[in-house]
Amino acid sequence: MPESLDISEIRRAVQALCAEFPGEYWREKDQARAYPSEFVDALTKAGFLAALIPEAYGGSGLKLDAAAVIMEEIQAAGCNGASAHAQMYIMNTLLKYGSAEQKQEYLPQIATGELRLQAFGVSEPTSGTDTLSLRTVAVRDGDDYVINGQKIWTSRAEYSDLMMLLARTTPREEVSSKTEGLSIFLVDMRKVVGPKSEAGGGMTIKPIRTMMNHSTTEVFFDDMRIPASALIGEEGKGFRYILSGMNAERILIAAECIGDAKWFIKKASDYAKERNVFGRAIGQNQGVQFPIARCYAQMCAAELMVHHAAQAYDAGGNPGSEANMAKLLASEASWAAADMCVQTHGGFGFAEEYDVERKFREARLYTVAPISTNLILSYLAEHVLGLPRSY
Ligand SMILES: Cc1cc2nc3c(=O)[nH]c(=O)nc-3n(C[C@H](O)[C@H](O)[C@H](O)COP(=O)(O)OP(=O)(O)OC[C@H]3O[C@@H](n4cnc5c(N)ncnc54)[C@H](O)[C@@H]3O)c2cc1C
Repeated sequence: MPESLDISEIRRAVQALCAEFPGEYWREKDQARAYPSEFVDALTKAGFLAALIPEAYGGSGLKLDAAAVIMEEIQAAGCNGASAHAQMYIMNTLLKYGSAEQKQEYLPQIATGELRLQAFGVSEPTSGTDTLSLRTVAVRDGDDYVINGQKIWTSRAEYSDLMMLLARTTPREEVSSKTEGLSIFLVDMRKVVGPKSEAGGGMTIKPIRTMMNHSTTEVFFDDMRIPASALIGEEGKGFRYILSGMNAERILIAAECIGDAKWFIKKASDYAKERNVFGRAIGQNQGVQFPIARCYAQMCAAELMVHHAAQAYDAGGNPGSEANMAKLLASEASWAAADMCVQTHGGFGFAEEYDVERKFREARLYTVAPISTNLILSYLAEHVLGLPRSY
């Protein structure tokens, strides 16, 4: 991607690329639960997945606000950025806290597409949203760490070369604050996947079939040995590092939700103009118009919050409340628009060939992941409004 593109040129370039991947393409992938490799390759070749990588390492050196526009346009075109979005947001932890050696080793290869950074191993089956009680442990042994434990919902692990992994390096009872003692590792999966890997132990990946095509998995670590040089930043400080990456993730996913909302609103408006019942377009009825107009207003308000949060992030802050509010408002706007779009289409909203039901299933995720609405509300209640901690 040329480095000098402005935002409207970025929008047009993403739209042109996405036009090559119409509804039929996504329907086929959805039915087969197949990974959209051609789409991800095209995004990589065009440089969009290297948007945040500094120019010195072969990327475009764009800000998060521009990356958000890329993700929004992918969704607004009816495509599914979930196949590749992690590369954008995981990148932030490496960019902010990785050493010069780590950046030199990985970033140029990620920029060219030789390496894929698509797997983010945080969630575990027993800890749920309570990340600080995760059980995966990394124990230092000479020049290595030995990792044991399990992750769940590690999306795209089968289609990634690198995984950003959060594990406990000091037992919870030995640290003064429970946010201490967690560390972040950049794991080269090519060396550890399979129980009989070259490193001796291993990582095993098991796909989980879900209601939409999301390539998510369970990952098991059994005496998995990785070099100590995989540690990002200081041992024990990983939770702080990952929070910054999570804010970037929330902002980028909020931008995707804005794109989804735009897709649903356009799809519903077009259909309401074309579909004739009782001798006139259904869109002539205020009962059909008003829900579309309401969703439009809701989407526009959320969109302002998303750009506000992205700009606060780009200004060098770590805007927890803005990123959370952007994610909350945008995921609710996209889900409201998804529901409205099905209602506007009547029975045809359920027919696969209209793509509405597929996008509806895909959009449902974002009030749950990467953080659920309740947890955002409790963050705002406690950290912004000063209400008592509820858990
Ligand atoms: C398709 C998919 C892809 C994903 N991809 C990834 C990934 O790539 N990497 C990764 O690390 N994770 C991933 N996740 C995990 C995702 O981030 C979690 O599912 C999400 O954070 C919610 O956690 P949980 O499922 O454990 O829900 P739980 O924590 O079990 O919560 C269940 C429900 O209870 C509510 N709840 C829990 N505690 C409270 C409380 N104190 N107050 C009020 N309500 C509460 C929650 O809001 C939620 O509605 C993915 C999930 C899915 C479904």
